[in-house]
Amino acid sequence: MLLFQSPPPTRYDLRFSVAGIPVRVHPLFWLIAILFGSSGDLLLIPIWVGVIFVSILVHELGHALAFRRQGLSSQVVLHFAGGLTIPEPVYWGSGLTNVALTANQQIFISLAGPGAGFLFAALVLGGVLALGGSVATTWLLGFIPLPLNAVMPFGGKVVTALVTMLLWVNVFWGLINLVPVYPLDGGSVMRNIFVQADPVDGVRKSLWLSVIAGAVVALGGFFLFRSLFMALLFGLLAFQSYQSLQSRF
Ligand SMILES: [Zn+2]
Repeated sequence: MLLFQSPPPTRYDLRFSVAGIPVRVHPLFWLIAILFGSSGDLLLIPIWVGVIFVSILVHELGHALAFRRQGLSSQVVLHFAGGLTIPEPVYWGSGLTNVALTANQQIFISLAGPGAGFLFAALVLGGVLALGGSVATTWLLGFIPLPLNAVMPFGGKVVTALVTMLLWVNVFWGLINLVPVYPLDGGSVMRNIFVQADPVDGVRKSLWLSVIAGAVVALGGFFLFRSLFMALLFGLLAFQSYQSLQSRF
């Protein structure tokens, strides 16, 4: 999210691979994860950082596996504004090219990120219940289940915090990314849907949706959830979409 382009490599990058998919973690990723965790109990910061790392990685690996299903290799980059999955250019005749994916293939790849996170949260939930724990939930907008607090029969505060954070971050990150705002996953899903319905004017319409949805979520986040983070993030994204409308149309 946020970044279209990969930040340049640094000597402090952490590099490894999962199931043959190369992963690079930019040093600023850790800084942002620590900043997000530092509002709570100091002792829980390492758990919080680990949970953010695993959750964003699961999301991006969902995209990467979906690319693989379309026959494309990709690499994952975790950076200061979340993560990015970049397909490898393919040799095509004499030069490099990005293989043209159909709209439905692109929608599948976009949904695979949030889908992987929701699946992971469901597995954690299943594990909690199987181990005799319980999870309190609330309903966002009346139909979206949001996990609140897990209660575990063992492990005390640390295990309870770990499970609660895992559920919460995976669900929240998936929902944030499904908002139909550029360049989030929901924004690219809507662009593909609009362009299929209206090849001439679809991109412009999807950008207007992005402006409106971004503004609504920014205001809702600020006034309903008192979240400055949501207000700033979605306000910025709505503004970016408005700027690209002004410059392109
Ligand atoms: Zn994504």
